[in-house]
Amino acid sequence: MVARDLDRDLRVGVLALQGDFAAHARMLTGIGAEVCEVRTPEALASIAGLVIPGGESTTLLRLMDYDPTWWEALRGFHAEGGALLGTCAGLILLAREVTNPAQQSLGLLDVVVERNAYGRQRESFEATGEWADGLPLEMVFIRAPAIRDRASGVELLASYEGEPVVVRQGRIIGATFHPELTQDDRLHRIFLEACGGVNTITERG
Ligand code: GLN
Repeated sequence: MVARDLDRDLRVGVLALQGDFAAHARMLTGIGAEVCEVRTPEALASIAGLVIPGGESTTLLRLMDYDPTWWEALRGFHAEGGALLGTCAGLILLAREVTNPAQQSLGLLDVVVERNAYGRQRESFEATGEWADGLPLEMVFIRAPAIRDRASGVELLASYEGEPVVVRQGRIIGATFHPELTQDDRLHRIFLEACGGVNTITERG
C-alpha cells in the first residue's frame, strides 16, 4: 500500500444530522483532510465531498423532512461535481431503490439495496472481506443492508462472501458496513481521491 499525502486545502463534510458522523470526521482528519460537520443544505456549498454516515435511514429521512430542500441540494451537489460516500444507512439513502421495506431515496447510485439483510441472528458482526484485488478488508456490519442489484456502470470495489459490499459509480462510493469503526482508512482515502481528483494526491515512496 502506497502512503499518500493529501492536498492541504481539500475540504470535505460529514452529514451530521444523526448517526456515526464523529468517527468518520476523525478518520478523515487523520488522513489530512479538513473536515466540517454538515447540518444544513447551505453548508454543501463549501465542500468537495460529503460522507453520509451509517445510523438509521428512517430517522435520517425524518430529519431531512424538516428541511425538504435537502433533496434538491444533495442532488445538485453531486451534479455540480461533489463526491459522495454513503456507508450503511448512507448507502441506503443514495440507492436507486430500497427494499425491506421500500422507502424514499436519492436515486444517485444505481443499485438496489435491501435493508437489514443479514437477519436477527447476525445483526452486528465483524468479518473479513476482500478488495477487488484480493487484499483483505476488515468490516463491521451493524444491521447492515445488502446490495442486491447494480447497474453495469457500478464498479465493484470490495466483496464479502462473494457479494458486493463496496461499490463505486463515478464520484459516488457506497459501502454496506462501517469503515469508520475499523483501523483501516483505505476507503476514506479512495473517497478523498474522488473528492479531489488525482491532482490533489501526491504519491510518497
Ligand atoms: N438498518 C439501518 C437502516 O436500515 C442501517 C444500519 C446502519 O446504518 N448501521 O437504516
